[in-house]
Amino acid sequence: MSSARTGHPVTAPVDQPAGAALYPRLLAPLDLGHVTLRNRVLMGSMHTGLEERGDWDRVAAYYAERAAGGAGLIVTGGMAPNTEGAVFPGASGLFTETDIANHRKVTDAVHDAGGRIAMQILHAGRYGYGKECVSSSAIKSPISPFVPRALDEEGIEKQIADFATAAERARAAGHDGVEVMGSEGYFINQFLALHVNRRDDRWGGSYENRMRLPVEIMKRVRKAVGDDFIIVYRISLLDLVPNGQRWDDVLKLARAIEQAGASILNTGIGWHEARIPTIATSVPRRAFAWVTKKLMGTVAIPVITSNRINTPEVAEAVLAEGCADMVSMARPFLADAEFVRKAAEGRAAEIAPCIGCNQACLDHTFRGTSSSCLVNPRACHETELTYEPAAAPKSVAVVGAGPAGLMAALVAAQRGHAVTVFERDGQLGGQLNMARVIPGKEEFDGLVDWYAVMVARAGIDLRLNTHATAEALEGFDEVIIATGVLPRDPQIAGQDGPNVVNYVDVLKGGAMVGNRVAVLGAGGIGFDVSEFLTHQGESPTLNLAEWLREWGVTDPEAAPGGLGEPEPPAPARQITLLQRKAERPGKRLGKTTGWIHRASLAARDVRMMGGVSYEAITPEGVTVNTDKGPQLLEVDTVVLCTGQEPLRELADTLQAAGRRVHVIGGADVAAELDAKRAIDQGARLAATL
Ligand code: NAP
Ligand code: SF4
Repeated sequence: MSSARTGHPVTAPVDQPAGAALYPRLLAPLDLGHVTLRNRVLMGSMHTGLEERGDWDRVAAYYAERAAGGAGLIVTGGMAPNTEGAVFPGASGLFTETDIANHRKVTDAVHDAGGRIAMQILHAGRYGYGKECVSSSAIKSPISPFVPRALDEEGIEKQIADFATAAERARAAGHDGVEVMGSEGYFINQFLALHVNRRDDRWGGSYENRMRLPVEIMKRVRKAVGDDFIIVYRISLLDLVPNGQRWDDVLKLARAIEQAGASILNTGIGWHEARIPTIATSVPRRAFAWVTKKLMGTVAIPVITSNRINTPEVAEAVLAEGCADMVSMARPFLADAEFVRKAAEGRAAEIAPCIGCNQACLDHTFRGTSSSCLVNPRACHETELTYEPAAAPKSVAVVGAGPAGLMAALVAAQRGHAVTVFERDGQLGGQLNMARVIPGKEEFDGLVDWYAVMVARAGIDLRLNTHATAEALEGFDEVIIATGVLPRDPQIAGQDGPNVVNYVDVLKGGAMVGNRVAVLGAGGIGFDVSEFLTHQGESPTLNLAEWLREWGVTDPEAAPGGLGEPEPPAPARQITLLQRKAERPGKRLGKTTGWIHRASLAARDVRMMGGVSYEAITPEGVTVNTDKGPQLLEVDTVVLCTGQEPLRELADTLQAAGRRVHVIGGADVAAELDAKRAIDQGARLAATL
């Protein structure tokens, strides 16, 4: 067997159990000459936020678990080559002997666990959140308030030298290689694309001039580290910004980078400032593998594809289709450190799925807190959140099979407790079952399925369609109440009318909704319901061609940077989305995904109004007070998405009777509830029982 275009031999190793038959290409070793990677899985670069805290033991534990879990090659979070290249002032780099010693802790831990690791060298250029930032031209980016200094000849030489020094230090720190970050709109990309580079010297103008910087960097890095060291270059295949690179130029660059000494080419898609989602959950799986495939055959070195690949099946399929020689997954390794091992052992159904939500990883990074993972609260907390075998196994009752209850049940069972879960519904998953019906949130299916697999595997006694009574809970050593939430009663005049429904009626009950709709409440659920009601037919997340058309992603041979004209589909209904707060609706949604939800609804002509109060609902619609006076919004249906209240009747009854119970998730605090907090709370409680 060989990879379709580049011909890197893909032979299944003989000593792999069940998974080898299922994922022969993914689990095949990759010979790089001086070193052989054990499989075709690259753990892509993700910033953990631990490095800046100086918590290197935690960094080492985090990567070591991923190495033990089977990743072929780990790439670290980005390290600055110098202070002007830092993502923010004080961001991690490899500047001093102490830095090298800290990295040595990590590389030793990874090697002891049987893995290999490369350090990403990330120069932020104009994305640097500080006054010192530099770029090709003095043009501010839309995502940073700082205007970069345009580098002169001497300044450019310094940056190149600093890349080479960083690579040398990475080698001294025991890394097996480096990844040179040349995509996502960072420094190198800012020289390559006319979007930023307006120079007329030998570093600007023609593409030959613009690509001089990455080629020089690669040559100098290779010279600095010698031949027996992995150098991955992350190439921007689709810039997705105006004046992006032309496809024939990208191919030219790929060949030049290979010539300059790269061992592997990794794929980058979209600048950070691009207004097209590239990794969010609503992006179809493997949405950009077709772009990497266009590169195959251009170079003889291995090529990696990336973005929204989160299962071994999808990874194997992109390799089988000749889209790449290797697959990069970053967030899936936060969700499950043992991704590769479970695949290799034929236990893929047990891999905790990354649902692409960004809620605990990138949203944390952009808020300046350390990363973790919504489905796996241990990610980046490996040293402090441990699931040790219980000293004295107990009987544990969990009421409620939503995310909080299920996570508590799984961790308790893993620790050796005998767990019974009571769920009044006919299925497990709780609120996740509403999320999963929203177009663009199909990944929640995988999460619910995973819980079902793990509950069965753990031998948990799951009692569906069972109303837990105080009597039924007698005799358990520990009782965990995770009964969730109820829709809040907003007490609006006329809300009992036949034209009023709430989000549960719509998402679970199949309530009839007219063509003209007012959605009251613009939190996460108001946005989700609006999305649900404006769609018809197949979700674009499940139809790549449709999704690419909607967002205006096109073949980079047809338009530079792959940027075409968006063609959103006609909305299924006319929606007005309302909130009382006098701020932009959706402002409090996730940092890295809120803009996608707002853009998606705007493209479907959803009208958004903040700063209203609700006067009354009548058969004609809903009357709201605005700063211009009362206004009747003539609608057929009003949908209440006005928040949630804890459902804690059972907890109150038990506590009133003097029972000691643990209350978690929405039943504990409904405000600002999301699955991240629920799961984290469940895991942390069960770790202590
Ligand atoms: P939420 O985010 O708290 O939003 C509740 C909405 O109802 C707000 O717009 C609020 O705005 C309004 N509201 C609150 N009390 C009201 C009252 N008495 N009368 C009228 N309006 C009232 O809660 P949610 O939308 O129910 O979401 C629940 C949780 O799930 C949230 O934490 C959310 O982050 C999470 N979630 C997130 C997503 C996502 O990120 N895409 C999706 C689903 C759920 P005003 O008070 O200004 O009117
Ligand atoms: Fe994936 Fe969400 Fe976990 Fe991030 S927080 S790794 S996107 S599941």
